[in-house]
Amino acid sequence: MTAVAELMDYADVVERFDPVLGLEVHVELSTNTKMFCGCANEFGGEPNTKVCPTCLGLPGSLPVVNGKGVEGAIRIGLALNCEIAEWCRFARKNYFYPDQPKNFQTSQYDEPIAFNGYLDVTLDDGEVVRVEIERAHMEEDTGKSLHVGGATGRIHGADYSLLDYNRAGVPLIEIVTKPIEGTGERAPEVARAYVSALRDLLSALDVSDVRMDQGSLRCDANVSLMAKDATEFGTRTETKNVNSLRSVERAVRYEMTRQAAILAGGGSIKQETRHFQEADGTTSGGRTKETAEDYRYFPEPDLVPIAPSREWVEELRATLPEMPSERRKRIQTEWSLSDEALRDLLNVGAVDLVAATVEAGASPDEARGWWVNTLAQEANSREVELADLAITPAQLAEVIALVSSGELTNKLAKEVVQGVLAGEGSPREVVEKRGLKVVSDDSALLVAVDEALAAQPDIADKIRGGKVAAAGAIVGAVMKATKGQADAKRVRELIIERVGS
Ligand SMILES: [Zn+2]
Repeated sequence: MTAVAELMDYADVVERFDPVLGLEVHVELSTNTKMFCGCANEFGGEPNTKVCPTCLGLPGSLPVVNGKGVEGAIRIGLALNCEIAEWCRFARKNYFYPDQPKNFQTSQYDEPIAFNGYLDVTLDDGEVVRVEIERAHMEEDTGKSLHVGGATGRIHGADYSLLDYNRAGVPLIEIVTKPIEGTGERAPEVARAYVSALRDLLSALDVSDVRMDQGSLRCDANVSLMAKDATEFGTRTETKNVNSLRSVERAVRYEMTRQAAILAGGGSIKQETRHFQEADGTTSGGRTKETAEDYRYFPEPDLVPIAPSREWVEELRATLPEMPSERRKRIQTEWSLSDEALRDLLNVGAVDLVAATVEAGASPDEARGWWVNTLAQEANSREVELADLAITPAQLAEVIALVSSGELTNKLAKEVVQGVLAGEGSPREVVEKRGLKVVSDDSALLVAVDEALAAQPDIADKIRGGKVAAAGAIVGAVMKATKGQADAKRVRELIIERVGS
C-alpha cells in the first residue's frame, strides 16, 4: 500500500503557487463500424466477438480508413474553431502492451487533422474562460484488460489477466488543450467546466454518445505548479482516465495540494501518470511517463494520407448544428429568463428536458418549474441524472395540461408525477388508478360546502357580514373533506354563492 501523501491546505496552495493545467480528452465516435475495419462499433457484448484480423493486426490484414470517422474528426475540429489540415497522415505509435495486439497504435503524431482552436467555457458564476486547443487528432482505441484476483483490479497482485479486443480499433479523437494558465484557485472548477462544455458540444454535434461512465468520453488531467516568482512551468503529472465531471475537479484539486506539499518541503515532482481513486478522491503513482521518443513514431505505411478538400470542409462546416453557447443565448431570450434562472436551468442539466417538454405543448415557465424544482429534487434524492428519471417530457407535458384544464390541482399533479416515477403508467393511468381527479361536479362540492358551513356557523355569519376573507377556513374544510381533490377556486365561488343566497 502506498503511504498517505502529505497535503497542503488549499488556500495556502493558491497563495504560494500558480497551477497550470493541460487537459486531454478522448472521445469515442459513434460510427457504425470501427476506424480501420468493418467490425461493429458497439459498447459491451460478449468479449472478443467484434473482432477481425485487421483490428487484431494479424499478418496479412490491411486497414482501410473509415470516412465517417474522418468526417467526425473534422466536424469536431471545426466546432472547436480549429484549422483543418490540408494533408495529414496516420502514424504508428509503437509500444508493447497486451491491450494492443499489433504492438502499435494507429494514431497521428506531428500531423494532426485539426489544430489551433479554442473553446469558451462558462463557469458557474457566469465568468467565461477561453481554453485554447492545441490539436484534435484521430486514433484508434485499444482493447480492455481485466485483471483477476487482486484487491485493486490493477495488474499488481492479480492472479491472471483477461483481454477483450471488442474495443480495439474503435475510432477515437484525442482533444488536447494548450497549457491553461492564470486560473489560480479556480483551476479545479475550470477543468470541470471545460470537460462539461466539451461534452455538451460533442453531444450537440451528435458524433458520440459522450457517456463518461461507459468510457466513451475520458479525461486525462495534467497538473503542474509554478512558484509565484517562477518563469518556467513546473514538472507535471498526468492523472489518467478520470471518468466523471466531479472526479475531474477533485483530481485536479488533489494533485495541487499534493504537489504543493512536496515542493514546499524541498522535494521535486516526478513526471508520471497517476490513477484517481473514486472512493477517497486521492491519486496514486503509476508508471513513469514515456516521452514521444519512447514510442518511435513513424508514418503508417499501410494507410493513404488524408487530404480533405476545402469544398468538403466547407460542406461539413455548413452541417454544424447550433452551438451550445448560442443555444443558451437564444433560449434565454425566447423563454425570457434572468441570468440566475438560466444558471439554475444549466446547473441541473435541464435545458434539453425543458425544451422537449415545451415542444410537447407545455409553457416554458411551467416546464422549467417542474424540472428545475420538483424533478431535480427527485433526481437528487434518488442519486440519478435528471434525464434518467422514469418520466418523459411528453408525460410531464400531459400532467401540466391536466392542471391547466382544471382536472388536477398542483397538489394532485405532484402525486400523479410520483405515480409515473413509481412506474404506475402514464399520467392518465395514474389518475385513474389512484382516483386523483379533481371533484368538479358542483352538486358533490355543494354537499361538502353546506356541511362545512353548518359546522362553523360563526364563520358563515362573518362571510355573510361581508368578511369574505373568512371563507378561507371553509375552503380548507372542504378541501380536507374531499381529500384535496377539489378545485379551491370553485369551492370559494360556491361558498360565496351559498352564503349570499
Ligand atoms: Zn475488425
